[in-house]
Amino acid sequence: MSRVRTILSQMPDADDALRRLADVIRVPSTCRRRRCREQACCQGGYGPPCYFEDRKRFADAVLEDMHQHREFWIAQRASFEAMLRRH
Ligand SMILES: [Zn+2]
Repeated sequence: MSRVRTILSQMPDADDALRRLADVIRVPSTCRRRRCREQACCQGGYGPPCYFEDRKRFADAVLEDMHQHREFWIAQRASFEAMLRRH
């Protein structure tokens, strides 16, 4: 990666932030787009499609539910780590 690309990749990106947030709060599982559901992660684009479908869910997650999402992913990581270490 060129120096310019490396520097630019460190800058905040609104679309990428929303796509990642969609994955954290597990929006793709109910997204109307089949590719989001099948791959269980937001497919992104200009404003992740899931964001436009349910903006309130994003707002509620940030305002009220982030502790619950954090706990879910901590448990997921621990479970994955235990499984990977067995193999
Ligand atoms: Zn989607």
